[in-house]
Amino acid sequence: MRDAVSVHDRGAGPVRRASPRLLAAFTLVGCVSLPEPPAPVLPPDPPRFEIVRLDEALPEVPPPLPLAPRLRWIPEAPSEGWLVAFVLEPQTRGLPLLEAHARAGGRDIALARLGGGAYLGLVAAPLGEQDVPVEVLVIFDDGTRLTQKLSLRVGAREFSASSFRVPRRFTDPDPAMRERIAQERELVRATLRLVTSTPLWHGAFMRPAEGRTTSPYGQRRLLNRELRSRHTGLDIDGDMGDPVYASNSGRVALSRDLFYSGSSVYVDHGLGFYTAYFHLSQREVTEGQWVEKGELLGRIGATGRVTGPHLHWGVYLHAVAVDPLSVLDPDFARLSDRLTRPAVALPKK
Ligand SMILES: [Zn+2]
Repeated sequence: MRDAVSVHDRGAGPVRRASPRLLAAFTLVGCVSLPEPPAPVLPPDPPRFEIVRLDEALPEVPPPLPLAPRLRWIPEAPSEGWLVAFVLEPQTRGLPLLEAHARAGGRDIALARLGGGAYLGLVAAPLGEQDVPVEVLVIFDDGTRLTQKLSLRVGAREFSASSFRVPRRFTDPDPAMRERIAQERELVRATLRLVTSTPLWHGAFMRPAEGRTTSPYGQRRLLNRELRSRHTGLDIDGDMGDPVYASNSGRVALSRDLFYSGSSVYVDHGLGFYTAYFHLSQREVTEGQWVEKGELLGRIGATGRVTGPHLHWGVYLHAVAVDPLSVLDPDFARLSDRLTRPAVALPKK
């Protein structure tokens, strides 16, 4: 112990070599010379470290499982004849959907990307159907695949009946007319089955003419006292020559004279979704032309199978006629606001 003190007590005696560990210990205890310093406390042996790779050292933890995306129907409780939208929103942050696919009523549904990794799809709830089977497949960034089988429940609706008197050539067409009718029906059906894979509409739909509704969608129709058909669109009253506007942006798919619908325009809004404008007296657009919402398509007339001038406005999804009121629904408008405006090079006129 004295030897150790003499290390600091210079000149008081012979300096003996202290072990480096002891020196270190005293340097730590204090530099003031004390008569009885406490016994040095030797530090414990330092822990031994080994460099290891972190991913090898941790026990294997599986990555978080992606949750099935939230599926939302718009409207929540649709009734027959309605155009129904659904939105797939990813629930797990950081695990965005890489791909989504859907089938409804036995056919593939084109899906549009919304912001935030969500997808939008459209399904028709046809007249007389109580539920529509829908299957959704989503693939996440990590390759996980999830399949959901759902059923879209469709509520029943009451529809009115109405009777009309029309010229006999419309209820009993001659063979030449029947041939024309068959060809036109095929042309329209083939057109309405073409699916443009991206949405061409954006924002809320507008009524294409100013008049009041004279005949709703789904009405039972007795023509010359026989039940002949269901009304597949919405009739809007108007005078001959009143303007008819595109209810949203899209591409003119058909613009021509047809036997039953008269002078007609069909507009493709993308995703298999079309609007139609019948019985026009005049058309202002040509097939293939891009139209903006509110652009003049033609003028109200009384061509085709009609009793007087009016606009018949039709909405179709995959060639199934749905109620035009469904695209005027505020919830559908809010959803349509989430679509990005389609980038279309406007043709020079
Ligand atoms: Zn009509």
